[in-house]
Amino acid sequence: MTLRQPDSAAPLAQARRIVVKVGSALLVDGESGRINRAWLETLIDDLLRLRHRGQRVILVSSGAIALGRRRLGLKPGALRLEESQAAAAVGQIRLAHAYKEILETHDVTVAQVLLTLEDSERRRRYLNARATLEALLDLGALPVINENDTVATAEIRYGDNDRLAARVAQMIGAECLVLLSDVNGLYSADPNKDRSAKIIREVRHITPEIEAMAGRPASQLGSGGMAAKIMAARIAVGAGCHLCIAAGSHRHPLRRIEEGAECTWFIPTATPAAARKQWIAGTLRPAGAVTIDGGALRALLEGASLLPAGVTGARGRFDRGDTVSVITSDGAEVARGLVAYSDADAARIIGRKSSEIAELLGFRGRDEMIHRDDLVLTQAAPAP
Ligand code: GLU
Repeated sequence: MTLRQPDSAAPLAQARRIVVKVGSALLVDGESGRINRAWLETLIDDLLRLRHRGQRVILVSSGAIALGRRRLGLKPGALRLEESQAAAAVGQIRLAHAYKEILETHDVTVAQVLLTLEDSERRRRYLNARATLEALLDLGALPVINENDTVATAEIRYGDNDRLAARVAQMIGAECLVLLSDVNGLYSADPNKDRSAKIIREVRHITPEIEAMAGRPASQLGSGGMAAKIMAARIAVGAGCHLCIAAGSHRHPLRRIEEGAECTWFIPTATPAAARKQWIAGTLRPAGAVTIDGGALRALLEGASLLPAGVTGARGRFDRGDTVSVITSDGAEVARGLVAYSDADAARIIGRKSSEIAELLGFRGRDEMIHRDDLVLTQAAPAP
């Protein structure tokens, strides 16, 4: 996607896939501990408008702990881990219920997806989570994601939905991630303390100065703060995704961004597809290798996928989703890619037609050994 500049809201208007993250401080009224329903309806209106113009939308929603703690009679202030997990168990039902109620009035099906850190860091689980989100989007549902707070223990939790949202954006190849928050962007200094503090409209490099501006977490209800948003920006930008930090407390917060409200945009240098390919090419140690014949090499050079029929051998131990080298019969590496089969399954289907896979393996896997979206040529290979 080439984005027109300098229209600062262009990524939001043009992205094919958008992730929007909404923080607890916006969703839950600090006084009553209830959902800000009237405001939420305007956010959902905005999300549906994006969907109507053909954009695919995922919402990452905080608020479970903030909603549940009041219900359980937990006192204000910091919670112990098990208390916040208990609060999340109670609050998540209420949160999901609110989304279902509002979205059903628009005839939109809502899907609740609760993720843990491991779902984005472990390859197998990452692939499963990604496939589920893809299926939900294909089927027209609106995925609403939160961390699975009730089971995530201290060492294995994101703890903040900013980074979770960035991982989700990376997972689905989103071009735009909007973090709606109680602040309207990144400031050169703390605007509550320093009257000369200015909002930074655009960040192209996350330098130590930018990180220093983030300071320490401040918001009362959310756990992220600006530091977590900058970490999220690193993940997003590295994955080729634009990230916007914007005020969410007004009604129709996304429409406001498109109408030019002040906010901070982090701009990536690559598209999600290019960033993904760079990442594949940069794998330090591929888990294994597959050898291909001349016909397959020609096809790869023309931009096609690698089919099992063109593979003559495989070596190494690899799992579905691992990076493998693609080598010619004389051992030269010509490409790298994310393989769709484990080494054991690959051994059974190499040299065979894709239409035979289901019978050979007993399940219907992908037609390709390595799909072209997951494949990157690593050197200009000699013509076969
Ligand atoms: N997962 C937490 C919740 O739903 C929110 C984490 C955050 O504040 O970013 O309450």
